[in-house]
Amino acid sequence: MTATLDTTSNRAYHDRVKKVLPGGVHYNFNMPWEEVPIHFTGGRGSRLFDMDGNEYLDLYARFGAMILGHSHEEYIEALGTAMRDVLCASHTDFDADALELMNRHIPCAEMVRFAVSGSEVLQAALRLARAYTGRNRFVRFENHYHGSYDNIMGGRVPDRADPVPVDFRGDLKGTAGRATDIMADQSFMLPWNDADALETLLAERGEEIACVLTEPVCVNGGSVEPAPGYLERVRELCTRYGVVLIFDEVITGMRMGLGGAQKALGVTPDLATFGKALAGGGVPIAALTGKRSIMELLESKRVVHAGTFNGYSLGTAAVRATFEILGRDDEAALTGMRGRVVAIQEILRAEAERVGLPLIVQGPAGLASFHCRETPLEAPSQYDFDLMGKDIVVTSALARHGVLVSSISRMYANASLSDADVEFFADRAPKALVEAKHQIDEIYS
Ligand code: PLP
Repeated sequence: MTATLDTTSNRAYHDRVKKVLPGGVHYNFNMPWEEVPIHFTGGRGSRLFDMDGNEYLDLYARFGAMILGHSHEEYIEALGTAMRDVLCASHTDFDADALELMNRHIPCAEMVRFAVSGSEVLQAALRLARAYTGRNRFVRFENHYHGSYDNIMGGRVPDRADPVPVDFRGDLKGTAGRATDIMADQSFMLPWNDADALETLLAERGEEIACVLTEPVCVNGGSVEPAPGYLERVRELCTRYGVVLIFDEVITGMRMGLGGAQKALGVTPDLATFGKALAGGGVPIAALTGKRSIMELLESKRVVHAGTFNGYSLGTAAVRATFEILGRDDEAALTGMRGRVVAIQEILRAEAERVGLPLIVQGPAGLASFHCRETPLEAPSQYDFDLMGKDIVVTSALARHGVLVSSISRMYANASLSDADVEFFADRAPKALVEAKHQIDEIYS
């Protein structure tokens, strides 16, 4: 078993970085173990190496983007070829392959547009839905996340009878500087996994509502899966009230299979957004996909969608490579990834039980989360501060012993995960769990 890692060089380097970088981090949603961020110098397969020579098992995967694993040879070769052939041009001869692969695999992807970040394609989806329906408001759900823009991030509903969200500064998504009333003017926010709440709202105010926007599995709310029949009812209600259904597949896309959650769960939205792992994790690219009848608004130029780097060559080459690598042999790489991460989750559960810490793992393999409680969360609204605090204690203890997990307690696997990685986890987890249990007892008793 290992001792807690020495991070002396990291700390010194961080002091240098934070003199110029606000907070010493590139974003505000830094992980608990990133209070002093780890500065990495290399990566191979599922492992990362830091400035102090420490080795980590990377189940953080850059917020889920890194799905192929580090230094994946075929992927890097494909990117290198693309860079040598045409580094920067508006359209390339990689475009058709990337588009057709998405069109073939993703049920709603009759047409596809590329952009760079998940946040921006979500805004493009809202604009399309508004243009298509002639209505202004969108419905989103408690504890879902769709990017960091003013109109869509965080907030809280003071009165569920009138589910208009207002700014809330008590969590990670509360921010100063938000445009006044932007959330209240544009959206409704409902509890998720509650189709009756959606039906009531659509019956009363459907005429104002352009679209319903949901993560098909609520990963941001703790990897909560849709209750049986829930998404089917949401689909049926959207159709009945003439509302565009948007799946935010920025996390679920690729991780639940190349057809996304929509294919895995058998419910087809009108529009869907992809990002993160879409291009394998090495370069940023996002996509807005959807039914031809709606996407045609872009063709007719009634709706504007622009961006300097839209469809950039390295990005589309990376999309093509990712679909080719993961699609081979009936998605064998994803199947292998799931088997190994489930083995890791079993070890985590067993070690927690051994030290007497209540802990469950929930959500599809590859995007599951662990939670320090006896039973799975049934709704994202149950994912409260108390629970997050306990989960963070476990996350931090794992990091101190060389295992990185993402966004509080998500275990993002990658396709390079090996049996040796499972063994690495089995070696590191016991001591981390003992420490975590001790700390949780101290803090919460
Ligand atoms: N949608 C979901 C479900 C996400 O989890 C995220 C980011 O974590 C986004 C959208 C925003 O994507 P990006 O960070 O690429 O802007």
